[in-house]
Parts: sequence; structure tokens; C-alpha cells
Amino acid sequence: MKRGLMIVVSGPAGSGKGTVNGKLLESDEYVYSVSATTRAPRPGEINGINYHFITKEDFKGRIDRGEMLEYTTYCDNYYGTPLKEALAVLESGRNLILEIEVEGAMNVKKLYPEAVLIMLLPPSFAVQEARLRGRGTETEDVILKRLERTREEVPLVDQYDYVVYNRDGGVEICADDIRSIVRAEQCSVRRHKEASKEYFNS
Ligand code: 5GP
Repeated sequence: MKRGLMIVVSGPAGSGKGTVNGKLLESDEYVYSVSATTRAPRPGEINGINYHFITKEDFKGRIDRGEMLEYTTYCDNYYGTPLKEALAVLESGRNLILEIEVEGAMNVKKLYPEAVLIMLLPPSFAVQEARLRGRGTETEDVILKRLERTREEVPLVDQYDYVVYNRDGGVEICADDIRSIVRAEQCSVRRHKEASKEYFNS
């Protein structure tokens, strides 16, 4: 069975990553990588579904034991991708979605050059700010930190494979764009290095 694709979806706060990925996850083809984090749950977030909400001590222990595929600190909290779960999904042939920030994405690219990196962007910084404030889930202090972080994150789009724009009302279009990227990647000759040999020998 072919291994699944490792798909990294990054985007600044308020870009709509969660909503767009939610659309993709309606299909069994995709599995969400549940990260571990030390931040507090937001209203409605469920432990084990949205994140594994753990303490700093627990997180550091997992790093020391080599249990994280990648990790980072973001606005004073740790975030990381559990390694064992990620590999199990890929081995099962399903595509894994890593909804992670840029530093983690760059580490994934080094460790797994076959990963597909997609950056989701709002149409502009001004629209992003309006959406983030409209969400109303963060304090002003957190909003300012996340907007500041955006200035470091977005220039790294150059290191990604694809950019997808989330325009107003465009969630379904973004999900379609990502499905198309995945289809194209699955057909990429880079991923079928033995195509000719297999053709004649099967
Ligand atoms: P939030 O607190 O809004 O859920 O996430 C903050 C940022 O951390 C987002 O950009 C999110 O994509 C990123 N993030 C979530 N999980 C991980 C992870 O496991 N690793 C890394 N590097 N970033 C993550």
C-alpha cells in the first residue's frame, strides 16, 4: 500500500486553517494530527480531539524521550506533533494534516523532504486583523502578539510549496484547492520513481 502524504497547513492567526481543514477532514482520506500543547483549552475545545492539553513538565519529558516529530514555542506555549501517531497514519495509507506554524513546518521539511507544505493566507494583513478581532476568543494582549508573529511568519511563504488564499466566503474553494494540490502531488513523478520498472514487471 502507498504511504499517505504528510501535508503541512500553516497560516497566520485568523487565516481560517481550522475551518478549511475541517472541510478536508469530512473525508476518510485525511486524518488530523492532534498536537500536544501547554496552552489552556479555548471554550469548546476537547482534550484528545483538538489538542492533547498537557503541562510543561509533561511536554519537556516527551521531548527528552524523543516522542515529538517536531515542536516549537509559540506565544509563550509549547506545541508539538506526536511522532508515533503521525507515522501510524502515514503507514495506513491515509493523508496526515499537520496544522502547524512556520518554524515547525521548516523542521518537518528538513526531516521529511517529501512533505507538502501549504500556506493559507487571508487576502491581506488588514483583513486578517479584522477576522482575528471578530473571532473574539483572545484577549487584546494575545491578539497583538499573534499579529506581531504574523510579520515573521508570512515572509516564509517562499519556503512553502503552495499558497492558498482564503477570501471572504471562500472556505470551500480553499478546501478544493488543497484537494487539487493533493491529487497533483499523488501523481507527481517524484513520487513514482519506479513507474517504468513497475509498468513492465507487473
Ligand atoms: P492555536 O493556539 O491558535 O491553536 O495555535 C497557535 C499556532 O500553533 C498555530 O499557528 C498552530 O498552527 C500552531 N501549532 C499547533 N500545533 C502545533 C504543533 O504541533 N507544532 C507546531 N510547530 N505548531 C503548532
